[in-house]
Amino acid sequence: MEPFKLVRAQNNAAAIAAGTQKETKFIAGGTNIIDLMKLYIESPKQLVDITALNLNKVETQNDGSIKIGALVKNSDLAYHPIITKQFPFLSEALLSGASAQLRNMASVGGNLLQRTRCYYFYDTAFPCNKREPGSGCSAISGFNRNHAILGTSEKCIATHPSDMCVPMAALGASIQVEGPKGVRNIPFGDFHLLPGETPHIETTLKSGELITAVVLPHLPFAAKSSHYLKVRDRASYEFALTSAAVALDISNGKINASRIALGGIGTKPWRSLAAEKTLNGAVANAQTFRAAADAALAGAKPQKYNAFKIELAKRTIVRALETVGGMV
Ligand code: SF4
Repeated sequence: MEPFKLVRAQNNAAAIAAGTQKETKFIAGGTNIIDLMKLYIESPKQLVDITALNLNKVETQNDGSIKIGALVKNSDLAYHPIITKQFPFLSEALLSGASAQLRNMASVGGNLLQRTRCYYFYDTAFPCNKREPGSGCSAISGFNRNHAILGTSEKCIATHPSDMCVPMAALGASIQVEGPKGVRNIPFGDFHLLPGETPHIETTLKSGELITAVVLPHLPFAAKSSHYLKVRDRASYEFALTSAAVALDISNGKINASRIALGGIGTKPWRSLAAEKTLNGAVANAQTFRAAADAALAGAKPQKYNAFKIELAKRTIVRALETVGGMV
């Protein structure tokens, strides 16, 4: 690890002022940035410790939406009564991620910003466009079993690793940030960027901007009928091969509304509006669910070793929908 300066911010303004300085990163739980620094993948000259900021509450707002402070720990959010009652699939997703120890440290804001687990990204002996722009992508011609099949580019095929982000994408959450130019709210789907030509630029955050909260919209049917299903190589402490966060509003066997997002297969948390369109207004049965899964994966582009993810993702979606629909 390279030497760095540590400053402890006591309020948002101080954090933002420090955050605008060159080669500076914020640190909260540190469950990703410290690993990246130890491996010389990131070497900020300055870390701004934001753990003293007042960003650790989960609150119901006047319009029924839920505001989650960026410093709320993943464990605390997973077990928070508002979340277990109103958004059980978010709780399931959080508890499927990492390990208990990591969840006790990791913050909501940090989870949004965690970087890919592509093994070539972490191994500095290999070229990687995300780590070193223009150097090449070792995964495209290498072992790419874990890599993405949606949203890829010729520069990068790395998956977004978060479980938490998948139901948040399905919900159409928004991310509140505060920066030198004030406060702004970023729709969840606009926050993470596709790799395109610039895979090293991963979000729409601007210099000095601090994530302060995630806001979940009021969505009553998510409380009754939602589920997060994660498929992985082992039952704990493992990233998703495929995952699906689904919520259905069903009455008299008909789907009135739906939400569906996928993990483990996209270069960003992947909400599928095509799948939702297929589901909305249709009869809730196996044929509808399979049609939604087909729609969700219609644009998939497999690599040499990950074509199995297409069918696995479809089955993950169908199983999650059947679970919510009371068919399994
Ligand atoms: Fe790097 Fe992306 Fe290629 Fe992995 S997939 S080696 S992160 S450019």
